[in-house]
Amino acid sequence: MLLSLRGVRRAYRGDAAPFALEVPAFDLAEGEVLALAGPSGSGKSTLLMMLALAAPPDAAERFDFAGQDIARHWKLGRGDALADLRARRIGVVPQTGGLLPFLTVEANIGLTQRIAGRTDADRVRLLAEELGIAAQLRKRPAELSVGQRQRAAIARALAHRPALVLADEPTASVHPELADAVLTLLKRECAAAGAALLVATHDPARAERLGYPVLACRTHAPGADGIARSVFERV
Ligand code: ADP
Ligand code: ADP
Repeated sequence: MLLSLRGVRRAYRGDAAPFALEVPAFDLAEGEVLALAGPSGSGKSTLLMMLALAAPPDAAERFDFAGQDIARHWKLGRGDALADLRARRIGVVPQTGGLLPFLTVEANIGLTQRIAGRTDADRVRLLAEELGIAAQLRKRPAELSVGQRQRAAIARALAHRPALVLADEPTASVHPELADAVLTLLKRECAAAGAALLVATHDPARAERLGYPVLACRTHAPGADGIARSVFERV
């Protein structure tokens, strides 16, 4: 298993709207693809932040990723080990691309390689060709179309050969016609790279139509304790 979680929980206290995300059991195999579906506020981003090793759970019986005991790293406060693992093994596609405006598209795609400490210009060019943005490599992000920018973000998320790609609503900023293309390219490129893929979406019908298995969360209105709960479970 690439990812194996048991008894994981993360809560936001806050007086106004206490919220808890619960993951009783969740496994994801190497190279596996999955769409995480849930309405806005159901905890999709919270889950992806935890899986990106960027936000610690409040409780975790087990949190294994890429053969490492992440729960233990957190317990011992090994932020450096987590950052290193994130840099080498995880790729992220943000909602609106998140390209750095002052760098060329080529440098943007190569950023994940530089952070992971292994540059590979051939791979940057190959990904750009596969994603149809080879002619844009010398340009700045502002000179690209919205769809081209999102394709560059996909290339960047894969350039350092991660084992897991996380995409949080990657079609939020593109036209509906382009949303299909983004999700299709994302799945195709992750498969080609052998990377597992988790896409958070509030549009499970689209993901399903494009061949993504869908995992929907269960949401529970606040109970006697006043805490709204969202449960993601799958083994
Ligand atoms: P989604 O990505 O599905 O829209 P989120 O994970 O962003 O859901 O949010 C889940 C719930 O947690 C929401 O009720 C949100 O208001 C709350 N929440 C998210 N981040 C924080 C935070 N930093 N502090 C307090 N509450 C938060
Ligand atoms: P926009 O200008 O509206 O942002 P794009 O620049 O993303 O749109 O391009 C529009 C269309 O071109 C999309 O539907 C996209 O699927 C398609 N496209 C371009 N290159 C490729 C490619 N290499 N593989 C798949 N589709 C591509």
